[in-house]
Amino acid sequence: MEPLDRSTIWPYDEQGEAREFHYQRFGNPTVAAAEAALGELDGGTALLFPSGAGATTALVLSLLEPGDAIALAAGGYYGTGVTFAALEPWGIRVVEFDQTGPPPNGVQLVWLEAPSNPYLTMPDLEAAAAHSAPVLVDATVATPVHLRPLEHDADFVLHSATKYLAGHDDALLGVVVCREAAAAEELRSFRGRTGIVASPDAAWLLLRSLKTLDARVRRQTETAAFLAERLRTHPAVGIVRYPGLGGLLSFDVADAEAARKVETSTRVIVNATSLGGVTSLIESRRRWEGDRVPPGLLRLSVGLEDPETLWDDLEQALA
Ligand code: PLP
Repeated sequence: MEPLDRSTIWPYDEQGEAREFHYQRFGNPTVAAAEAALGELDGGTALLFPSGAGATTALVLSLLEPGDAIALAAGGYYGTGVTFAALEPWGIRVVEFDQTGPPPNGVQLVWLEAPSNPYLTMPDLEAAAAHSAPVLVDATVATPVHLRPLEHDADFVLHSATKYLAGHDDALLGVVVCREAAAAEELRSFRGRTGIVASPDAAWLLLRSLKTLDARVRRQTETAAFLAERLRTHPAVGIVRYPGLGGLLSFDVADAEAARKVETSTRVIVNATSLGGVTSLIESRRRWEGDRVPPGLLRLSVGLEDPETLWDDLEQALA
């Protein structure tokens, strides 16, 4: 197991020259080990950030200039739009589009989500790759177990590593994986200068979690597919959104009141936000996203509990 190194400083060498690690803001061995593992998973050069939103901010500010526009997948993680809105005073503009088709012209960055949270659509990666702007795929929900976007000509992959990669609801982290080494070096330099850096403690937890990533995600996918099928036959459930991969799904009940009743009636599944951990979580997304989602939309992140136990819990909550 990789040792946890909390040092913020490392001595210069005998000639008085800085070694690879000299001051934690510019790099540390534990974060570097996690980045090496993440780079291998996605087939590129990985850089760790203190959160998914921090990774988003760092990438946008280092890549774009005032006046530039981002084509953002509609129906994706609402917080990404919130982050972009916070960057508006710096001249960053956003155009939403349907990611199942080609991105609009006149943008300097294409931002996709695979699959989108909570609408669970998959992007048209081929159409995006044909666009002249760099393409980023937020593959938080798919994870590298199901999708390696760099192999589909994406330029960047982003993960909220808080979710499946760390997987235990105990570490906040983000990662950007770059296809081009030169792009990674530019982002690394920007990160060091702006100080948007991950802590070694969180990186150590991530390293621990990556050992079980494949086993966790495969089991979560199997259980999610099973629950999606059962939910589709339940009379109180309307549309069920599940793209056939990953551990996240969403479904609609009659209205906001029904959704509130279901989310507060589960006994095994915890009523909390976030996704990708070993514990199943359910929540009405209306409370955060307002009119962007149907009033009865429930998002379910499937954990590692026994599938029949989860179904029994959903059934009694829907009753
Ligand atoms: N991307 C997706 C798809 C997410 O679901 C989230 C968080 O929910 C983020 C990015 C942001 O990540 P973080 O919460 O680690 O900042």
